[in-house]
Amino acid sequence: MVEERPAREGADTPLRTHPEWADRFPWLVQGTTARGDAGDPFDLGLSGTQPVGRALDRWRALAAAAGMPSVVHARQVHGADLAVHRCASAPGLLVMDGVDGHLTRAPGVLVTVSVADCVPVSVLDPDHRAVALVHAGWRGVAGAIVERAIARLAHEFGSAAESLWVHCGPAICGVCYEVGPEVHRAVTPERDAPSEPHPIDLRAVIVGRAAACGVMGERCTISMHCTRCAGDGVVGDTADRAFFSHRAGDSARQMAVLGVRDA
Ligand SMILES: [Zn+2]
Repeated sequence: MVEERPAREGADTPLRTHPEWADRFPWLVQGTTARGDAGDPFDLGLSGTQPVGRALDRWRALAAAAGMPSVVHARQVHGADLAVHRCASAPGLLVMDGVDGHLTRAPGVLVTVSVADCVPVSVLDPDHRAVALVHAGWRGVAGAIVERAIARLAHEFGSAAESLWVHCGPAICGVCYEVGPEVHRAVTPERDAPSEPHPIDLRAVIVGRAAACGVMGERCTISMHCTRCAGDGVVGDTADRAFFSHRAGDSARQMAVLGVRDA
């Protein structure tokens, strides 16, 4: 289990990173934004109730903090389609339509997915300095978005599954995420589904699916953070939760981010 740490202590932009990846892959920009200041939450949602200008100010701060001029986001549809970014777009925020994952090896391009209980899955190929970032809720997992990202990395950049590293970031935990039998059937068709609503650990399912593609188990990690609880299945006070959670009633959204540093 990985505890994401502030990318920079005392920074205005509340970006948390995987500390072992930060040490091992200095060419990488990675992490997930957190709630930040309780009085002025770091909401990056572009389709909620906050004025979009406020959100865009935070996007600019995030790009500056990450040192990445081109930022790519998409309106997500709980699908399994991926976009490949072969070169940097113009500086600023590009918002695409209708994809739930991004691949790139272009330096200076920060790809992002919006999450607030769904799993942000980061996939790295250090050999080719290529990355994939996907938004994986149960529909995406059932649609094999993780397997598709791994296959697409191989197709586009020659990435071998056994060279990949996979991290499942802050998301709803296996205690909090109670779902019906139809969801169990969709994400783990190889298992007998429960007859009534029952919790499922979506991040463990994702790691199992990555392993089935040939990713080595010791290169797969899972964040210790549950977006909804403090590890006990009980919704904590808003001020105590580091990340936004849809099931805990938050309408705000954090972003998982991934990219290759602009050398
Ligand atoms: Zn939980």
